[in-house]
Amino acid sequence: MIPENLSAIRAQIHQACLRTDRAPASVHLLAVSKTKPASAVADAMNAGQRDFGENYLQDALPKIAQYPEATWHFIGQIQSNKTKDIATHFDVVHSLASEKIARRLNDARPSDRPPLKAFIQVNLVNESAKNGVAPKALPSLVTMMKDCQNLQLLGLMAMPPATFDLAERHTFFSELAGLGAQIKDDFDLPHFQELSMGMSDDLETAIACGATWLRVGTAIFGARQSQQET
Ligand SMILES: *Cc1c(COP(=O)(O)O)cnc(C)c1O
Repeated sequence: MIPENLSAIRAQIHQACLRTDRAPASVHLLAVSKTKPASAVADAMNAGQRDFGENYLQDALPKIAQYPEATWHFIGQIQSNKTKDIATHFDVVHSLASEKIARRLNDARPSDRPPLKAFIQVNLVNESAKNGVAPKALPSLVTMMKDCQNLQLLGLMAMPPATFDLAERHTFFSELAGLGAQIKDDFDLPHFQELSMGMSDDLETAIACGATWLRVGTAIFGARQSQQET
């Protein structure tokens, strides 16, 4: 089923791009393989998928070891004591949310690897349970990260509360796009052009609002058994 699911999602993305005047090549699909076995990653790779997202370090490490040729994205909450492993084994992080974590990832990135690509996760609804920096704290984090030679800031990431309907998600995603545009205006950041937003149930809304990385799990791999979300 994974190859069929991937084809269906690619077609859905393509159609949504055409409807909203987006270049299909500007929208990337991140397959969220958290909690899924290595065989699921293999099936997706055989169907041409290269980017995979993981939330849990211990769960991810064996899959990364098995498929080093894939591009691995860390999308879960980043704990301080995990920064060394994350900086060593991942290519991209979507959930950077503090200066402390930025410094630790920068210091731990192995010198024989290219800079760790990073999205800053933004908390747009001030929900204490959710990870992310408040919009007002963004400029100082971006300023600090400009000095991190081993990090390459790609853009912003956010996740709407599960209770939001599509209209509320549209507003939420537009807000993130607006923040990203403002950072791009205010700072000289050559690689800052991405928006990581949109999941299985709201990817068309995210595309309409400018998403460039969709993080899709369920629609590719099926429902997860343990719903231990971050
Ligand atoms: C699990 C997860 C996803 C994927 O969600 P689906 O609804 O299964 O597509 C995307 N982003 C993050 C941060 C996640 O934790």
